[in-house]
Amino acid sequence: MSVRVAINGYKGRMGQELQAIVDGDGQFEVVAGVDLALGGGSRSLSEIASNQLRDIDVVIDFSLAEGFQEVIKWCEKNKKPLVSGTTGLNDDHFAALDQAAKNIPVLWAPNMSLGVSFVSHLLEQFNAVADQYDFQIEEFHHRHKKDRPSGTAKWLQETLKKSVGKSLPEVMVARGGGVFGVHKVWAFGEEETICIEHTALNRRVFARGALQAAKWLASKKPGRYTISNVLGY
Ligand code: NAD
Repeated sequence: MSVRVAINGYKGRMGQELQAIVDGDGQFEVVAGVDLALGGGSRSLSEIASNQLRDIDVVIDFSLAEGFQEVIKWCEKNKKPLVSGTTGLNDDHFAALDQAAKNIPVLWAPNMSLGVSFVSHLLEQFNAVADQYDFQIEEFHHRHKKDRPSGTAKWLQETLKKSVGKSLPEVMVARGGGVFGVHKVWAFGEEETICIEHTALNRRVFARGALQAAKWLASKKPGRYTISNVLGY
């Protein structure tokens, strides 16, 4: 049976990428495309018709932080699992995620790719040699990206900070062109440097991860999950 999803942020770059994958894949069905920018149709989750509501297994959200509280509250009220990749969230958003996780399964990840999840685990290895290196994270994204540093860079910075047990310089940020996402983690030693680099070659990698997460989350108990739980890293 297919997993039936509602996409919040449907008209956006990620929403359209999700729809393109679903079109060529019998495992999923988009039962509602929700976007503030829609002329007709549902501009917010609360406008979803009751007959569509019944059919939704999971909500996938790639929109803007500004509407995030509403998304969480709607999912909690209607008992719909939530997969969200929306970045630029603040502490109140994370508190709301934790609160909702008592009643519904929620999975928020600033990067839905297997590669970045893997890199995050690699960073834990720096613990053994932390005092030998100075660290620096850099990120590059397309000119339209609103938040800076990226949610992924914040995630990697947090992981690295825990791993090396010392404060780190601010993430270096560049915006331009159509770059889907490049993250570099530098370790500068006296006589050598290490650079772990992840490059997203397209947006599809994130959309695929989100759909995989939706399928996985649909049958889970209430709780807060990570993309590592889904992808195995
Ligand atoms: P986008 O600007 O192309 O699309 C966002 C869409 O959301 C727009 O169509 C907008 O009209 C809609 N929207 C905004 N507020 C809304 C609301 N309150 N209700 C309904 N619709 C609303 O952006 P994008 O490139 O698709 O990225 C969307 C988000 O996903 C960003 O936060 C981005 O950083 C994040 N992102 C995450 C990952 C990941 O792997 N986690 C990957 C790519 C992008």
